[in-house]
Amino acid sequence: MTVTVLSIIIAVFVLASGLFVLRAVPGLRTYFRLRGDRLITCPESHTAEAVQVAAGEAALGTFFNEPTLQLKQCSRWPERENCGQDCLQQIEADSQNCLVWNIVSKWYEGKSCVFCRKSIGTLQQWDHAPALLGPDFKTTEWKEVRPEKLPQIFATHQPVCWNCHVSETFRRLHPELVTDRPSEIAHRV
Ligand SMILES: [Zn+2]
Repeated sequence: MTVTVLSIIIAVFVLASGLFVLRAVPGLRTYFRLRGDRLITCPESHTAEAVQVAAGEAALGTFFNEPTLQLKQCSRWPERENCGQDCLQQIEADSQNCLVWNIVSKWYEGKSCVFCRKSIGTLQQWDHAPALLGPDFKTTEWKEVRPEKLPQIFATHQPVCWNCHVSETFRRLHPELVTDRPSEIAHRV
């Protein structure tokens, strides 16, 4: 193999790699923008429903310059699996505002734990999830709630930090092992 042929092969390889990266970066950006649970208002039932966009397919669509936006999951499926997916317009209009993580973060923002009064702070992916206190005085991690139920849950529940959720759950499950000090009773709801 002559040096010239080798140079051409290297040049073609470098060019192909460059083109691949140029295509792959927007594709990855599409993937990270569209992944995750989202809350939309179903145009048919006018109820809050949880959906997931097929982010992998959308990323490939961006890579091959053929935009593809479709649902991968919806809380009304499988019954309404053949719907027109008109809710995608809401996601196209503002893909971040309907992201469940952002909706939950916004609800906890500026709120304090109903038990210990500590500020819940900003939600972090790697932190323990905060919880919710229901009218039945049971605490539940927000991640255990079905996303489409969150809007009505937020109207009736109060914020609880993870530490208090753990201690309240223990207290509820093992009341015989818990002794409240008078100062603690004064602070309890
Ligand atoms: Zn607390």
